[in-house]
Amino acid sequence: MQILVFNAGSSSLKFGVFSVATETHEVFRGSYERFRDGKCEYRFRHRETDERGTASFDNPGEALKGVPDALKRFGVNAIDAIGHRIVHGGAKFSSPTLVNDETVEAIEALTPLAPLHIPANLKAVELCRSLWPDIPQVAVFDTAFHLSNPAFVTTYAVPARWREAGLRRYGFHGTSHKYVAERAADEIGRPLSDLQLVSIHLGNGASVCAVNRGHSMDSSMGMTPLEGLVMGTRSGDVDPGAFGFLSRELGLSVQEIEDALYDQSGLKGLAGSSDMRDIEDRAAEGDPQAQLAIEIYAYRAKKYVGAYAAAMGGLDAIVFTGGIGENSPSMRRRICDGLAVMGLQLDHDRNIAVSLTGQAAPQIQAYGSRVRVLVTETAEQRMIARETATALAGGRSDGGLRLPIAVSARHVHLSRDAVDALFGKGYVLNQAVALRQPGHWAANERVTLVGPKGRLERVAILGPLRQRTQIEVSRTDSFALGIEVPVRDSGKLEATPQVTIEGPSGSFTTDGLIIAARHIHTNPVDAKRLGIEDGEYVDVRVGDPDRGLTFGRTLVRVGDNAFTEVHIDTDEANAAGIDVAATGELVQI
Ligand code: ADP
Repeated sequence: MQILVFNAGSSSLKFGVFSVATETHEVFRGSYERFRDGKCEYRFRHRETDERGTASFDNPGEALKGVPDALKRFGVNAIDAIGHRIVHGGAKFSSPTLVNDETVEAIEALTPLAPLHIPANLKAVELCRSLWPDIPQVAVFDTAFHLSNPAFVTTYAVPARWREAGLRRYGFHGTSHKYVAERAADEIGRPLSDLQLVSIHLGNGASVCAVNRGHSMDSSMGMTPLEGLVMGTRSGDVDPGAFGFLSRELGLSVQEIEDALYDQSGLKGLAGSSDMRDIEDRAAEGDPQAQLAIEIYAYRAKKYVGAYAAAMGGLDAIVFTGGIGENSPSMRRRICDGLAVMGLQLDHDRNIAVSLTGQAAPQIQAYGSRVRVLVTETAEQRMIARETATALAGGRSDGGLRLPIAVSARHVHLSRDAVDALFGKGYVLNQAVALRQPGHWAANERVTLVGPKGRLERVAILGPLRQRTQIEVSRTDSFALGIEVPVRDSGKLEATPQVTIEGPSGSFTTDGLIIAARHIHTNPVDAKRLGIEDGEYVDVRVGDPDRGLTFGRTLVRVGDNAFTEVHIDTDEANAAGIDVAATGELVQI
């Protein structure tokens, strides 16, 4: 499958063609940049050819019209699908989404969240729909990876009215952080779900992401791509009190301050250039402004590494990427210096010798460093191609999607009473891992279930607390406990059997023991696209050719911000021969 990928910004158009099969190969790479006086610079790379020149386009939208000719000239013809990088998906888009009128409308409604980027992204989408009307297109969102962030990460401590208006943290560079985390796990040779990683993307835009066992837990960008690290021209973290101060002292308007924070700050504000190469050269010649800019830049990144190790409660590796992360050994060294306290030590020779050809991801930690340090090229376009192919592979021609499957092992949802009895009055559970459903988490603490026949130790506790305690086990678990347990939808607890829960401070005997009926969580946008409704029962086909099977009577539950996924238990997963990262397919009846 050949996929054409577009990254359309307000000042540049980057695109690529990828052949996606078991491996993803770049076939063609192109860009149009530096639009000035009706002209722009282009660069096309295909096999051994690297062609640069000037073209008569005065904006990225116009330049897109030149892409079909460019591809034809290089003999790159058969395009099966188009993937678009869309900077903001709000709280709605949790996965790559097939483009149709409705998707375009939903993205357009998010314009206030990214007023510069979304119009540019959508212009490319519309042009592609008119240039290639018969080719399916998929929108891949920069924010989607971070929708797994827990509420205590996404919520700003501001008045309720502001929050209700939509003010919250989102995080960006999601495609890059996801790719980099997967590449690092591959290199380390352990499943991503085992690893606690910090991904450090240092390009013109820059962000750090805490990737906790495969899910983004936190990232340094917030409501907009302005929060967090020092960037090329963006300030990163600034006291919001600056707005009042600058308005009173310099008479600046909100717009003027915002423009300056985006375009005149960061490295440019500190040292007059947004280009780290210039700044490093000047610092080497003794320029004190350039030296201070580098120190601030590194210090800010180092602070986030420490913060995210604390947030995740552990750190296995950090990964550098982006133009600066990939190419500046001295910046990597400055960020890592002093982190020996966390078990992280760089090997200076390996750091200097980094070569990233052939998608390498070299490890550059010192011998004996507990935390690994990796460097790898970010490959957002490659990842967009892959995600586009995946979205289409399981998608039906009417725009269906493959559904991620989440396998639920035995767990409990506790009430306040239960927590008091098990852990002590007023005890607050520690939220260890954010689950993919927004606002849901797994606690650090564990409990034991006790039945007439046996005990189940180290059972997970999922939050937030509920009005009523609910204990979810599999049929196999019910035999181990020696209790006959009914299959029930979550929350339907009338006349369910009793079980005793043991915690460190006491025990709690309650009804509410169920085998959870399989179900699909989804949101209104995905539900509409999949053609399913809240309360409906559908069939889902899962598993490999050997043991795959179709689960009938799967309940659809639509929630405003729900992440679309099918929940089955361990018995069902084992029966279908699948592991944690499987997907299923909705069966059309
Ligand atoms: P974008 O976010 O626009 O994709 P990049 O990832 O290409 O940006 O990163 C651009 C930044 O990388 C610039 O600050 C540039 O100076 C820096 N950079 C590129 N090569 C080097 C290098 N060899 N040493 C230091 N910085 C570099």
